[in-house]
Amino acid sequence: MNRTIKGIKQNGEEVWFSPQELRASELNAWQGWTCSVGQKNIAIDENGNMQGGDCGIGGNLGNIYGEFRIPDKDEWHVCPLKHCSCFFDIGVHKFSKDENTKFYSFEDPNLPLKFEWFLSSKCNYECWYCPKDYHSKLPHKNSTDNVMKGLDNLFNKLRGKTFTMGFWGGEPTLFPGYIEICKKINNYNSRVFTTTNGSRSVAFYTKLINYSCISLSVHQQFFNEKRMINNIKAILEEKRKIKTKNWLMIKLMVAPGSLSYWKIFLKKLETEVPKLTEEAKVTLNSLVGLSDNLSEWTDNIMEGYTSKELEILTKYGRLTEK
Ligand code: SF4
Ligand code: SF4
Repeated sequence: MNRTIKGIKQNGEEVWFSPQELRASELNAWQGWTCSVGQKNIAIDENGNMQGGDCGIGGNLGNIYGEFRIPDKDEWHVCPLKHCSCFFDIGVHKFSKDENTKFYSFEDPNLPLKFEWFLSSKCNYECWYCPKDYHSKLPHKNSTDNVMKGLDNLFNKLRGKTFTMGFWGGEPTLFPGYIEICKKINNYNSRVFTTTNGSRSVAFYTKLINYSCISLSVHQQFFNEKRMINNIKAILEEKRKIKTKNWLMIKLMVAPGSLSYWKIFLKKLETEVPKLTEEAKVTLNSLVGLSDNLSEWTDNIMEGYTSKELEILTKYGRLTEK
């Protein structure tokens, strides 16, 4: 299990966790803790607005198409939220001075400077657990040219400092010129992570793995099993051929009551894709709940999981070592 986050207990003992473990075991309750949010995790919205953390507690940082700033290591915030739900936020350094907490610090010590850009809400799926503001059939709100200019602004600001850029949406790969955008970031010597629903073609993903790590989210309601398996095979074949460090992650989105479905799919995947568990990361993902008007995720895990499901999601949230 890939445990990247170090928790330190009051007695100094260190315990390592995966983000999924922290979330499923509800150890991610850091209300009142002092947090470095924004120093390493900056979210960018569809209009280019930048904020500290997916949670936004790091405040408004400006706009990538105009003026913006990157917080320095002296900027800290007190967490007002009950839970830290987003994987983007979970690993940033946070600590508590309360001696009654079991742990007083959590941090992924190897976290790079990371941006998460919500490129467009346009998506070809309509998953029921996806907030309505996060997917649409509307045209993209931005153009390839603008995104390229925004990236130039970022490079000028960072003056050679490297970073990782996560693109998500919506379905970010539907954005025009997507692979060119990834290439531009690679040319600045930085990495790209793409979160995709796996619905594009074999040819597209074979090209994409040259320029971006790929996180395939598998959504039970919409995905095409055959296409998904072919895509996974093709990405791994290309990875082997070009010997890239870009990784493939496969995230099975486990809604309450669906664990047995995913176990069957996983067996099939293991049978049909040679070396799957050696060459890709496979995870079972628990979902967070939705607000009453379905516009936002709540800060708590989705209701309805059986205790057995939660136990397995906590224990086997990440199924492979890499
Ligand atoms: S939600 Fe997470 S990242 Fe945001 S302030 Fe709280 S602990 Fe920090
Ligand atoms: S594929 Fe992703 S963005 Fe699209 S509806 Fe599903 S969860 Fe939302």
